[in-house]
Amino acid sequence: MKSAFADLPVTIFDVMSTLARDHEAINLGQGFPDDDGPEDIRQVAADALIRGPNQYPPMLGLADTRVAIAEHYRAFQALDLDPSRETMVTSGGTEALASAILALVGDGDEVVLFQPMYDAYAPLVRRAGGTPRHVTLRAPDWSFTEDDLREVFSPNTRAIVFNNPLNPGAVVYSADQLKLLAKLCIEFDVVAICDEVWEHVVFDGRPFVSMMGVPGMRDRTVKIGSAGKMFSLTGWKVGLVAAAPHLLTLVAKAHQFLTFTTPPNLQIAVGYGLRKDASYFASLRKALQTKRDYFVGAMENMGYPIRQSEGTYFATVDVGALGIDDDAAFAKRLVSDFGVASIPLSAFYAQKPSTNVLRFCFAKNQRTLDEGLARLRRAARELGLKG
Ligand code: PMP
Repeated sequence: MKSAFADLPVTIFDVMSTLARDHEAINLGQGFPDDDGPEDIRQVAADALIRGPNQYPPMLGLADTRVAIAEHYRAFQALDLDPSRETMVTSGGTEALASAILALVGDGDEVVLFQPMYDAYAPLVRRAGGTPRHVTLRAPDWSFTEDDLREVFSPNTRAIVFNNPLNPGAVVYSADQLKLLAKLCIEFDVVAICDEVWEHVVFDGRPFVSMMGVPGMRDRTVKIGSAGKMFSLTGWKVGLVAAAPHLLTLVAKAHQFLTFTTPPNLQIAVGYGLRKDASYFASLRKALQTKRDYFVGAMENMGYPIRQSEGTYFATVDVGALGIDDDAAFAKRLVSDFGVASIPLSAFYAQKPSTNVLRFCFAKNQRTLDEGLARLRRAARELGLKG
């Protein structure tokens, strides 16, 4: 059998970051903040590393970190989780996704994916023996209708993988859209693998609603979070899983042969971070929202057709509206001729989409943003935009 990974290109994040280095570009492509996360959390990790323990922690995670996960989701999302049976710590959201998909999807299963989608989903579904069935989200708000869902749900549907807030689309789904999706999941008896790694990065006072809290979804949702996004520590790769016992038991069986466990000092520090009060998360949102406003406002002034970002570190530009019909080629030109790296959304589709959109990361320090914007101003002049 040919490996599901054999024909995969190198991930677009690596491609664009390499081009960024080659061209000494400002990298607004890959999504990571310039600054490291809170010093107190890093200090807890550093102390725990020296003090120990540094041997294998329990497979599902340190007991206290799992209690912190349950406390956190009770406080912020009104979820009622039994820490010892319904939570697990993984090595990043990515490992949580891999564990969930490998554990829950089998030969012949269909899995509903929503494109543009995070690029890990489809290869993992295929590797698990499943077949992706794609819903193409409707630009500009990346919405879906009941008909869109009915076209792909079938008696063979085993699971959906749903990302909210959406990377790369930078929208936050409303309770009504979630209810519509829940209706189909319940009707077809489907598990919802919910990638909610951006749950705390939402703007303009928008509420974040977890799929797990939608009526009827409590026991059919695998909820995935990422400490990397919560604490601006993307290199730590600490993931959080919440699911009913019958699902978590299966997901844990895949986890035991992927990584088995996650460094104990990072788990201790994440447990400490999860117990931070609402003011920490409010200030995280506020700081990122200020950057978003600065970046999006400047791009608008230059005449770029930029869409408002409702959440995540990203904002998207509809370069199709400028007459550009190949976002990937345009992203390469932007990096080689103007020195700014972005991510073309076509990389997040199973086949070339009819839209042409670039994603920019604004979670950068002021100097990086200003230099990136100066270069984008030069590009805007060349493109004949109003700026
Ligand atoms: N899902 C989505 C939608 C993401 O944006 C990311 C990180 N960019 C991940 C999963 C992976 O999270 P982690 O870094 O914790 O593995």
